[in-house]
Amino acid sequence: MYLHGTSKINEQGHLEIGGNDVTKLAAEFGTPLYIVDEALVRQRAREYVEAFNASGLKFQVAYASKAFCVMAMCALAEEEGMSLDVVSDGELHTALQAGFPVERIHFHGNNKTVDEINMALDANIGCFVVDNFIELDLLNELAGAKGKRVKILLRITPGVEAHTHDYISTGQQDSKFGFDLGNGSAYRAIQEGLKLNHLEILGVHSHIGSQIFEVEGFRMAVDKVTAFAVQVRDELGLTFQVVNLGGGFGIRYTDEDKPLPLGEYVKAITDAIISNFTHAGYPLPEIWVEPGRSIVGDAGTTLYTVGTSKDIPGIRKYIAVDGGMTDNPRPALYESKYDAILANRANEPVSETVSVAGKCCESGDMLIWDLELPAVHKDDLLAVFCTGAYNYAMASNYNRIRRPAVVFVKDGQADLVVKRESFENIVGNDLIPSRLKKTSVGN
Ligand SMILES: *Cc1c(COP(=O)(O)O)cnc(C)c1O
Repeated sequence: MYLHGTSKINEQGHLEIGGNDVTKLAAEFGTPLYIVDEALVRQRAREYVEAFNASGLKFQVAYASKAFCVMAMCALAEEEGMSLDVVSDGELHTALQAGFPVERIHFHGNNKTVDEINMALDANIGCFVVDNFIELDLLNELAGAKGKRVKILLRITPGVEAHTHDYISTGQQDSKFGFDLGNGSAYRAIQEGLKLNHLEILGVHSHIGSQIFEVEGFRMAVDKVTAFAVQVRDELGLTFQVVNLGGGFGIRYTDEDKPLPLGEYVKAITDAIISNFTHAGYPLPEIWVEPGRSIVGDAGTTLYTVGTSKDIPGIRKYIAVDGGMTDNPRPALYESKYDAILANRANEPVSETVSVAGKCCESGDMLIWDLELPAVHKDDLLAVFCTGAYNYAMASNYNRIRRPAVVFVKDGQADLVVKRESFENIVGNDLIPSRLKKTSVGN
């Protein structure tokens, strides 16, 4: 069994995270429960910061808040000196409510609305990452109407795509995001942007994929960005101050995943930048990265209570937990793999293979196939690891299941950072039109 961060098995054979016995957390907060190992989140953030400090380059590590965007997480990101990426008015609102420093907020997205742009302009956020020509003009116009000049990066599609161990380099990348580098769109976007008075182009942004386990794709992206930077400087007279290389740094969900230490991704990027830009006689730009998953992913554990089971002799044994695709849709969406243990009897020897089902009315509502566990009983606690990223953030109310609570644990302390949803939350936005309302007898 692989335990992340501060997780360990205590003398009673119970899983402990951040100095908290999870059987006690289950008793206090109920299940399903998202548990976040605060020390591990901080450690991951520091791995990035330390690697950048070692490079001597100016940098920003922007936490991609979409991975897990709640106010406490914004506060933690701020404390660790990170910047913050947001992609919607809801994420921006969360950051603002948490008091996140506005100059460190970057606004992403391929279809920002007028209202979202105005909200971000009014908040004086630090940077817009502009995705397309329509947004370029719209942002210039809206900033102009408010008498502002805003900093932007242009999102380019570098023609490098990386997924775990594979990367491909294509002339023309099929993507909904960004200005294509290969077909000249990115170049035209710079030409266009330079004419717009209310925009200041800081540089470019490139994001090549997610759950990446190798550095080669990032090196390829740096090569393409460098060549573009040189061309833009020589032909259009603009020198990039910032190069943003996105996120996508991989984490270990199961034994099959072999991520690099986070500092190695950073080193590969900063080494390539320093070497390429120095070679081109180009002033060294500030480097931004945008990790999401690798900041919070392995710090999260979801605790469930086991309910029913169904043994189909010779075929498979299902055990069902009190959550499922509503709190973790990733297995259903992407066939993502997770690892889990019996948190209340973690030292007992493995004796059966089970598949973990959720409680939703959907055959695809499965969390883990073929998991080896000690003999599972009703009311056992199942801890599923590495659920910190894209779990709470992607949770739904399908079947009108209430979203679980989230606790931050550290040094024996456990603090609720998101309350379990109430029945009031479930029906709070519902309205019954008067024509459907039951009226008095005789009507
Ligand atoms: C999703 C995304 C990220 C974060 O990706 P992770 O795989 O969570 O690190 C960063 N930047 C952009 C533009 C993204 O779309």
